[in-house]
Amino acid sequence: MSSGNEFDLIARYFTRSAPAGMLGVGDDCALLPVAQGRELAISTDMLIEGRHFLPGVDPRSLGHKALAVNLSDLAAMGARPLACLLALSVPAVDHAWLEGFSAGFHALSDTHGCPLVGGDTTRSLDGIIITVTVLGDVEPAAALRRSNARAGDDIWLSGTLGAAWLALQLLQKQLPADDARLQASRQAMDFPMPQIALGCGLAGLAHAAIDVSDGLLQDLGHVLQASQCGAELWLEALPAHDALHGLDETVRRQAMLAGGDVYELCFTAGSTGREAIMALGKTLGLKLSRIGRIVPDAGLRLFDAQGNEVSSDSQGFDHFAASEPSA
Ligand code: ADP
Ligand code: MG
Repeated sequence: MSSGNEFDLIARYFTRSAPAGMLGVGDDCALLPVAQGRELAISTDMLIEGRHFLPGVDPRSLGHKALAVNLSDLAAMGARPLACLLALSVPAVDHAWLEGFSAGFHALSDTHGCPLVGGDTTRSLDGIIITVTVLGDVEPAAALRRSNARAGDDIWLSGTLGAAWLALQLLQKQLPADDARLQASRQAMDFPMPQIALGCGLAGLAHAAIDVSDGLLQDLGHVLQASQCGAELWLEALPAHDALHGLDETVRRQAMLAGGDVYELCFTAGSTGREAIMALGKTLGLKLSRIGRIVPDAGLRLFDAQGNEVSSDSQGFDHFAASEPSA
């Protein structure tokens, strides 16, 4: 990007005064104070046009989502946000787009006290590429590592499943047009809310956690692999989003088990933590569902309401495993 342009853009859209005690945009590095006795939690995620978002998507939603998916990783670690960085590559300077994008980004950063303190801005050859890095901190022993699940743990999930998947299927005409359903599910796809307060509340209370970005089965699978254990999941206990109501049962299950872009937390905790977890959900006004338990033997097994095992293959999940991978 020609330098005049680049610096104008940074000044106009991405420079805001940093909180007291921090050095933000404008120097060679940002400077942040680091709290004693806590560990730095760092994560980065890219969003690529055509792969992670549809061309022409509302820029405000994109600005929101670029930060949301990163904050969701902090939440899944039990970390509290400190600051973020934005590396942005755009093919041309489009002020209306930059206005919307930066407004969506800053609004969410304000909500979570996660100021934008630096980044990079370049002209791309083709398409928009957004890379956000988030910094947070967490008490070392309390971090919600994927490897911390233990046999006998309850498996919990915040919020509901399936809405973002449904919205994408409808937009891509993979399911018959249904305006009411699209309207009911679209917010979940465009403006996911990272579960920061929940993650912080679970630090030290839950054992392992992951945010559901690629689909429940796949993401829980990562926890099982890292923790070297297995799980049973109860289909009846899975919290379906209202927009799934009345859909064919196979499609509903597909949406809930394999649908990505959820950004809710799936976490495990000992049964002695149940009351504290329910109380936390109540305080935060969040729906928390107990959806299964961790078992010693490897593998993920699904059970229906009658306690019969359901094969995920026979449900066609493999054929449908079509949720856009977010990596
Ligand atoms: P450098 O030459 O040190 O790489 P740049 O010219 O790329 O610096 O950027 C100037 C300042 O603006 C730096 O403080 C950088 O962190 C910040 N910056 C650049 N792009 C962005 C952006 N998209 N969002 C936030 N800060 C940015
Ligand atoms: Mg630079």
